[in-house]
Order: sequence, then structure tokens, then C-alpha cells
Amino acid sequence: MSADVLSDDFKSRLHLTTKTVGQERIRRARENNEDVAILSMFLPNATAERENKKFCCAMKDQCLLGDSRKTIAGTKKMEYKTRQWHEKCFCCVVCKNPIGTKSFIPREQEIYCAGCYEDKFATRCVKCNKIITQGGVTYKNEPWHRECFTCTHCNSSLAGQRFTSRDDKAYCAECYGELFAKRCTSCTKPITGIGGTRFISFEDRHWHNDCFICAHCKNSLVGKGFIVVEQDIVCPDCAKEQLM
Ligand SMILES: [Zn+2]
Ligand SMILES: [Zn+2]
Ligand SMILES: [Zn+2]
Ligand SMILES: [Zn+2]
Ligand SMILES: [Zn+2]
Ligand SMILES: [Zn+2]
Repeated sequence: MSADVLSDDFKSRLHLTTKTVGQERIRRARENNEDVAILSMFLPNATAERENKKFCCAMKDQCLLGDSRKTIAGTKKMEYKTRQWHEKCFCCVVCKNPIGTKSFIPREQEIYCAGCYEDKFATRCVKCNKIITQGGVTYKNEPWHRECFTCTHCNSSLAGQRFTSRDDKAYCAECYGELFAKRCTSCTKPITGIGGTRFISFEDRHWHNDCFICAHCKNSLVGKGFIVVEQDIVCPDCAKEQLM
């Protein structure tokens, strides 16, 4: 007797909740194909026979209740777009934890909790392997955090900087010059070619334009004839003097 009273009380409370919030909300969500999941309660067959008959847990054979058509008044169900689940069955496809009231991410036919979705689909930086949420950079089709995309040699950030790559590794202009560029025969500093540095090459030697001067009179030899005397380059006049 007292059990009946209790269940009556429960029923009416359910009725109220569902009618004012759940059903109406579900109807609207359905009509607008809204991107929301709706958690509502199963009503007893006495009040929601048609609704209950239509229910089929999207887990089908894998329904955790063992019967995808089971409706238990007072338990919850989840509805998302055209599919429905028992609340218990509305789980993350990866970790199998029930979504409950937490947010979730639908992808194709699967439901993910936020954590598993990030783990599986988020873009990860090739250097630190952490997720890039915004403002990453791509180099050779691979994603990096801006702060992780640094010079291979000195580790200074290259985002927004001029850089050069060699063997698929990126270097700041300075390091690239130090490490790989041709060096000037005269001053031994690198000839980077970045920023359009002009230089002279002769056989396998190179000079900055400014360093390409006569070993004797120090006049520029750019655009002029010159003569190689042992390791030196000299202007024709100085060469003549030397020979005399
Ligand atoms: Zn189920
Ligand atoms: Zn998960
Ligand atoms: Zn990173
Ligand atoms: Zn560097
Ligand atoms: Zn030089
Ligand atoms: Zn000279």
C-alpha cells in the first residue's frame, strides 16, 4: 500500500519534469535537428506507452541492459539526433565511461568523451607531442607549436623569422650561415646568400663583394680583371709591378 503511494508520487514528479521540459525539448530538438543531447526519464507505460515502444537503444546487441528495447520508468535515457540510448549505454567509444552529464563529441556514428577525442584526433606538435589548440605552424606538412618550431642549432624560435632548411631541418639565418654557408676566403665569415648578399666565386673559392680586393693595393676587384698569384688575388697593375 505504502509502496503504491510512493510510486504514485514518483510518477507525478516524473510526469511534470518530462512534460514541461523533456518532451517539449526533445520535440524541438528533433524538429530543428539541433546539436544537443537530451537526457530525460522513461515514463511508465501508463503515460508514455507509444514513446516507450519506439525506444531502441543505439547499442543494439551490445546494450548494457541486455535488451535494447527495455524501458524502465524512472531511469534515464539519452537522445542525440536520431538515436537513443539508455543512460548507462551512452558511453565514450574509447574509454567506455558513461558520458553522463559531461560534454561529448560526436564523430560519424561514434561518441567520444572530450579527453579521448583529444587524444585520438587532436593535432599534436611533432616536437613536444602535446596537443596544439590554436596558432600552430605547419612545416613540411607537419604541425608544430609556434614556440616549438625552433632553430635546430640554437633553439631560438623561428615563427615569423626568416629561416633556411637543410635535410628537412630548419635553421635560423645566423646558424645556417655559421654551419653551412660558403665562407669568404678573405675574412672567413660565412656568405649566407640570405638578404641577397653578393659574392664572387672563382674556382672553388668565394669572397664577399667587399672582400674581393687586391692583396696589394686593396682596391676593389669587382668587375675588373685580376690575376691569381699563389694564394693571392691581385689587380693587373700590382701584378705587373710584382713581376718587374
Ligand atoms: Zn542500452
Ligand atoms: Zn573516453
Ligand atoms: Zn610543441
Ligand atoms: Zn639558430
Ligand atoms: Zn669577406
Ligand atoms: Zn692592386
